Amino acid sequence: MNILVLDVYPDVDYRISKDQNGGYGTANNYGRTIFTKFLKLIVSKSIDFPPLFSVQVIGELKNSDHEVKFAKEIPKNLENFDFVIVISSIVCHETEIKTIEILKSQNKIIFAIGPFATSNPDNYINAGAKVIIGEPEMFFHKFSLTFDEINKLPNKINNFKTIDINELSDPGWETIFENYTPKFKFLGNNPSVNINASRGCPYSCFYYCVYPLQQGRKLRLKNPDKLLNEMINLKKKLGVKNFIFRDPVFSINKKHTIEILNKIVESKIKVNICIETHLKNIDDELAKLLKKAGVKLIYVGIESAVEEVRNNSNRQSEENDLQIQKINFLEGIGIKVKAMYILGLPTDNKRTFSETLEYAKKVNSSYAQFSVFTPYPGTPAFLEYKDKIKVKRYEDFTQWQLVFDHPNFTKDEIDQILSDAYQKYYLNPKWLFKYLKKKILS
Ligand code: SF4
Repeated sequence: MNILVLDVYPDVDYRISKDQNGGYGTANNYGRTIFTKFLKLIVSKSIDFPPLFSVQVIGELKNSDHEVKFAKEIPKNLENFDFVIVISSIVCHETEIKTIEILKSQNKIIFAIGPFATSNPDNYINAGAKVIIGEPEMFFHKFSLTFDEINKLPNKINNFKTIDINELSDPGWETIFENYTPKFKFLGNNPSVNINASRGCPYSCFYYCVYPLQQGRKLRLKNPDKLLNEMINLKKKLGVKNFIFRDPVFSINKKHTIEILNKIVESKIKVNICIETHLKNIDDELAKLLKKAGVKLIYVGIESAVEEVRNNSNRQSEENDLQIQKINFLEGIGIKVKAMYILGLPTDNKRTFSETLEYAKKVNSSYAQFSVFTPYPGTPAFLEYKDKIKVKRYEDFTQWQLVFDHPNFTKDEIDQILSDAYQKYYLNPKWLFKYLKKKILS
C-alpha cells in the first residue's frame, strides 16, 4: 500500500516539538520581551526532529513492504495514497483537526496516532479519523490488513497485540531524511536523531507528567546490542552523529545503563549524546562513564527549590545541596547540564518561585529552562483542574503559559515572571562569566 504520514504544525514564530513532553508536545513560546524573542529564535533555528513514535511506525510499515512518505503538509498527489496517518499532539491539536477534516472531505481513510489522541480521541474521531489507542508501532507491526479490513476497523482501535520492544523494526529514519534532516545543534551541526534505550517511568510524579501516559509506568528495556546496531547503522547510512535519548529517565536501571555505555565505548563509535535523567540516578562513577561514551548534554528536572512545593506535586528529588554538587561534578568533567524548573506548581507562589530562581542562579548550569505548570488532559492533575481551565484551545497548552485559574498567580503575572526569569538567569554575571570562559577555552 502507499501510505502518507502527515505531521502538521500551525504557522507560528516559535519552535514546536511533538516528541517532547511524552508525545503531547511543547511549544517554546517563552514570552514577548526582546530577550525571550531572541531565545525563541535560537531554539527554533537549532532544534527540529519528528516524534519518535511516528518514525517507529514508518519503520514498521516499510518492514511490512509498504511504500511510505512523510510530509509536513497535505501533498498535491494525495490521491496516490491509500490512507493517511496523522500524528497527534496537544500543541498542534486544532491544526491537526482541520487537516483531518480536509482529508475526510477528499474521502481519505485517516488514522490518528500518538499519546494525545490516545488519551483524548473524541475530537479526532468526530473530525473523521480512526484513533489507534496505545503505541501505534505495535498496531502497524507486520501490517497486512486489506483495504476492506481497514474500512471495517472501529473508530477507536484498541486491544491489538503488543510485543516486546526488542521485536520492533528499526525506525524508518531514511523516509524522514528524504523530507528533511533533523537537527539538534546543541550537540553539533551533524544530523541528529532521537532514539531510546528504554520506555516507561514508574516514578510518582506521574501525577502531572504525561510520559507514563505514553509509555506506561512499567519499565521496558531495549537490548543493548540492538541499540548499538541501530546507532552504528544510522551513522553509516545517514551520517548521524548526534543522538538524543528520549527515555523518560535514561539511567533508571543502572545495570542496563552501564551495559549500554560500555558497549558504546568498546565499539569506538564516535557520537555525541544527549540524555534526560533524574539526578538521583547519577553518581560520580556513572558520570565519568557517561562522559566516556560521548554524553555531552544532560537534561535534569529540578522543578522547584522548595521542598513543600515539590512534595505537593509528588516529586521526589535529591537535597538541594546535593543537586548542586552533582551538577557541578558533571559540568566539571565536561558534560553540560540543562536544569529544568517549573513555575506555577499547584502550591507555588511569588516567594517560592523567587527562591527557585535564586537557587537556579546558584546551580548556574550551562542551560536552564523555566516552564509553566500545566495540568494535561489524561493526567491525574487534570481531574483536579478541569473546571478551572481558562483557555479554549488545546494549542494554548504550550507549557509556557498559564492555562488554568491559579490561586497565587494571574496569567499576566506568569508571563512577566517567566520572561524575567530567563533574563535574570542568562544575564546573570556569574552565568555570563562561565559562558565566556568556556567559549575562550574551547
Ligand atoms: S521522573 Fe517524573 S517527570 Fe520524569 S518522566 Fe518520570 S514521571 Fe515524568
